Amino acid sequence: MDKKNMKDSAPGKTVSKESAPKKYTNYPTVIDHSTEVQKEWAPWVRQGLWDIKGYRVVKGPAGGGTIDESKKNLKEFMVIDRTEASLYSHSYGLVSPFFLGLLEGKLKGTKCPNCGTVYCPPRAHCWNPECRMTETEWIDMPLRGIIHTFTVQCLAAAPFEHILPFSLGWVQVEGADTAICTMLHIPYHDLFIGQKVNLKFRPKAERKGDLMDMYAVAVPGQKVPKWAVLQSDEKQLNRLDEATAATTEFIKKRYGLDNSKRGW
Ligand SMILES: [Zn+2]
Repeated sequence: MDKKNMKDSAPGKTVSKESAPKKYTNYPTVIDHSTEVQKEWAPWVRQGLWDIKGYRVVKGPAGGGTIDESKKNLKEFMVIDRTEASLYSHSYGLVSPFFLGLLEGKLKGTKCPNCGTVYCPPRAHCWNPECRMTETEWIDMPLRGIIHTFTVQCLAAAPFEHILPFSLGWVQVEGADTAICTMLHIPYHDLFIGQKVNLKFRPKAERKGDLMDMYAVAVPGQKVPKWAVLQSDEKQLNRLDEATAATTEFIKKRYGLDNSKRGW
């Protein structure tokens, strides 16, 4: 983008000659957990917009080898400062009932009236090519399923870092043809593919209409099968023990939280 265009598209500049007529302004607000947040964030939103506020040129070591070797190869790097304090607002669209359901402690899925495919997480339209985007219908899902697959996480995006280490599962809810991603409140030494789980919800006051409102616990009385991928490889399990112990230490130092006491 050249300088002229950057100026034209800068915030606050009117680009089009005629502004489009406003549509859809009369929808009543049924529930409002947003206005207070909007007020709080408005000044930050105005400062945001991802534009570069400044930069520094710093000299630092470059290239491979040892630290001492790379110190001999100093290069200049440009470090830019961008404001990221934007408040993104987006709609859940046609799958909103799913997220509203989570607030109520209910798990909802959708079913295609044409081919009968059951989606959980929901899809607003069937993805079976024969159904040609048939709109699906809402159904209540049972709060039980099996683990389709799982990962043990020692790394996570910033908003979830403080709960590390944790296990994340893809759970096939009973009756569903797809699998849903959820937190597993199960020690990873007990985890296996095909494990039966019950789905639980966080206390109502803590729910946000988000996938993190829900988690899975193991149905009691199950034994880890001999073929279980993780437990049948002692080396792998030891390596994972070391990694999760180091992660737990890191979280203790950074957040003052002892996640080893959670039991999962
Ligand atoms: Zn279908």
